[in-house]
Amino acid sequence: MTPLATASLAELRTLLDQHGAPAFRAQQILDWRNKGVVNPEEMRNIPNALREKLAEWCLCDPLTLITRQQSADGTRKYLLQLDQGKCIGKRVECVFIPEPERGTVCISSQVGCTLDCPFCCTGSQPFDGNLAGHEIVAQVLMVMADLRRDPLPVSLSANRVSHIVFMGQGEPMSNEKGVHDTLKTLLDQLNISRRRITLSTSGLVHGITRLGAKYPVNLAISLHAANDALRDQLVPINRTFPLAQLRQVLDNYPLPAQRHITLEYVMLAGVNDREEDIAALARFVNRGRERVNLIHYNPHPASDFTGSSSDHINTFAAALTNRGIRTTVRRSRGDDIAAACGQLNSSTPTAPENAAPA
Ligand code: SAH
Ligand code: SF4
Repeated sequence: MTPLATASLAELRTLLDQHGAPAFRAQQILDWRNKGVVNPEEMRNIPNALREKLAEWCLCDPLTLITRQQSADGTRKYLLQLDQGKCIGKRVECVFIPEPERGTVCISSQVGCTLDCPFCCTGSQPFDGNLAGHEIVAQVLMVMADLRRDPLPVSLSANRVSHIVFMGQGEPMSNEKGVHDTLKTLLDQLNISRRRITLSTSGLVHGITRLGAKYPVNLAISLHAANDALRDQLVPINRTFPLAQLRQVLDNYPLPAQRHITLEYVMLAGVNDREEDIAALARFVNRGRERVNLIHYNPHPASDFTGSSSDHINTFAAALTNRGIRTTVRRSRGDDIAAACGQLNSSTPTAPENAAPA
């Protein structure tokens, strides 16, 4: 069955044509889809008979919304269940991060993750499969629909989806097919510019090269350590693709003018926040093309690291800046509902007092 989430105009026209329905309806259907409306019953300018048929011919919505939680800062975390396909019955999470001028959806590409970074909550969840492209795009469409049905106060949110980050559950470069299919739809169908899409990866170098050749979106790298001995521990994929290989691939990643690669660095007290770590970063970072984004460690029960204090993070940031490295500190969003970086784990039951029904 054709998934509606990723269908192109040509595919939908062919489908309608095959069933003897007028092909011009394809554009109308896609206009709805591009606004997040995937339930044919809500497509008001489509005749009833065709709405019913569409539900038979297409896979309209592969996800069921189980719960939605909303943080005090307006961040929304959605727990979703996959209704068909390889991951049937499995659950993933996605997050909407509102800002007055923009709205970012953080999407998941896998159920769990195979890569086992010891500070990450997703890594502690057993890996349960790759999502198909339409299941990843459906997360974005679901958020769009939710914002229309139940907008946030305008002081908190522009109530639209302008940016996408692949920073939810899973390692996107371990699911290249699903992620490439998603990018094709986001860029070609939903018209989200590549400058507004960011993919975060722990550093699977061949996937990064292929991404740059095909879909050169913004790149973020989970660096977390700039020497191999420590990175082998914190980001175990480093044992397969050590820093020298990563360096080469990053230097060749296509970057538009005025853009840079983000090196993500979660601040772990006494582990990677020492003087020698500043020196290692100063040796590793390509100052003209990269910036460092320091992330507050978000604690979760499956890990016993301690985060560096805010004061220490600021001192660390200043030391990097003094060495000519552009450095920012990431503001944590939605941590009161475990929606912040590294806290997503769809095997954890949702706290009922926070849960709002779908
Ligand atoms: N698998 C991809 C994308 C998902 S993780 C990757 O590793 O890049 C998104 C970001 O959150 C990554 O930089 C990741 O290292 C970071 N992260 C993971 N656990 C975290 C935690 N407990 N606190 C803060 N950031 C964390
Ligand atoms: Fe997987 Fe990324 Fe978490 Fe590492 S940080 S376990 S790669 S999701």
